Amino acid sequence: MKIIAVLGSTGSIGTSTLDVVRRNRHLYQVYSLVAGQNIELLTAQILEFRPRLAVVADATALTRLTASLADSGLPRANWPDLLSGDAARVTAATAPEIDNVISAIVGVAGLEATYEAVCLGKRVGLANKEVLVSGGSLVMDAVRKYGAELLPVDSEHNGAHQCLRAGNRAQVSRLILTASGGPFRNTPAADLAFVTPGQALNHPTWKMGNRITIDCATLMNKGFEVIEACWLFDFAPSEVDVVIHPQSTVHAMIEYSDGSVLAQISATDMRMPIQYALTYPDRDEAPVPKINWAEARKWEFLPPDFEKFPLLKLAYQCQEAGGSATCTLNAADEIAVEAFLQGRIGFLSIHEIVQETLSRMPSRTPGSVGDILEIDRESRTLARELANLRAARTVTA
Ligand code: NDP
Repeated sequence: MKIIAVLGSTGSIGTSTLDVVRRNRHLYQVYSLVAGQNIELLTAQILEFRPRLAVVADATALTRLTASLADSGLPRANWPDLLSGDAARVTAATAPEIDNVISAIVGVAGLEATYEAVCLGKRVGLANKEVLVSGGSLVMDAVRKYGAELLPVDSEHNGAHQCLRAGNRAQVSRLILTASGGPFRNTPAADLAFVTPGQALNHPTWKMGNRITIDCATLMNKGFEVIEACWLFDFAPSEVDVVIHPQSTVHAMIEYSDGSVLAQISATDMRMPIQYALTYPDRDEAPVPKINWAEARKWEFLPPDFEKFPLLKLAYQCQEAGGSATCTLNAADEIAVEAFLQGRIGFLSIHEIVQETLSRMPSRTPGSVGDILEIDRESRTLARELANLRAARTVTA
């Protein structure tokens, strides 16, 4: 029986994780659930999975959770411990009973808990890509130092992890990450200025949280994945290629030195990589559709348009630059995406705000989680000012 912590249990990855648990009750027991504000869903999860600990983002959410559990009729003696805030997220990921942590909070709010779990040598299934984008150097140093297992849940990295098992790492020449191309793959560049949040949220192949969905539309997400892959598998940015593959069925490919390319292929269902992170090095039946090879199908592979989607190029540049650049990239993007989703800025302003924040933030070398959170905070403040300026211009125009 594996004892697991689910950080971000109410999100898209979190609910898929709990579905894997639901179908394999004999294998997994949930120790802790960590959510932000979605009390209704968290209450339902507590009733179903009976964790020992439930954590929410802040004191207000905690008050709502307490009221919700009282309304649910669950006898108090059966309630989990209830906590809120930054330190509580760490507690939820580091209790000695926990074997596996699924790290699926969105944003840097998940960094410290994930880092501390790594420092205890736990197995971490990593979906929260901001952990490596913001703190890659620190986290990977800890993985090596404490012998933790960091297993990628992001489907592309999970695919790469599987392909890398087939050969010798020293004989790998490149990693190819596939990208669906997002909803604007065929939209003329001149029309991108006018696209709406509703259009950008309409992802062609995956159903995910709002931030990552907008990041897919700008290809920022693919840029984050390039950075994440460099850290996870020790690649230079120049060794990682991105290929547009609208069908999202080939998730990643590894090219070996003899030119042979291995691909990982599976349905677009995150329960497969989540389960892989829990069962590795074994495999188990997964509740995902198998590919029907009797059906005719067409798979396309196209080069990305770096001019139309400049955030992808920027991600490569930031990873090359090192230091705090990728942390700022992530923070500025999160603020710009939020402003776009609120209808305050246009789609193209996301890149403008990120680029300007990067050019104004001095580069530093973060040495601790505290340093990263400080750089993140400063970058957000600057990006917010820039977003507000643009929003004010939009209103007066
Ligand atoms: P969602 O937006 O669906 O879920 C985010 C989760 O984080 C929710 O449970 C949310 O809680 C929780 N959360 C947010 N802020 C806090 C906080 N301060 N404290 C505690 N919990 C918090 O995101 P996804 O599930 O789509 O993505 C999660 C991560 O996984 C992201 O980093 C994303 O890039 C990555 N990822 C996602 C994929 C996908 O298919 N969805 C694929 C690959 C990677 P609440 O809703 O209760 O507020």
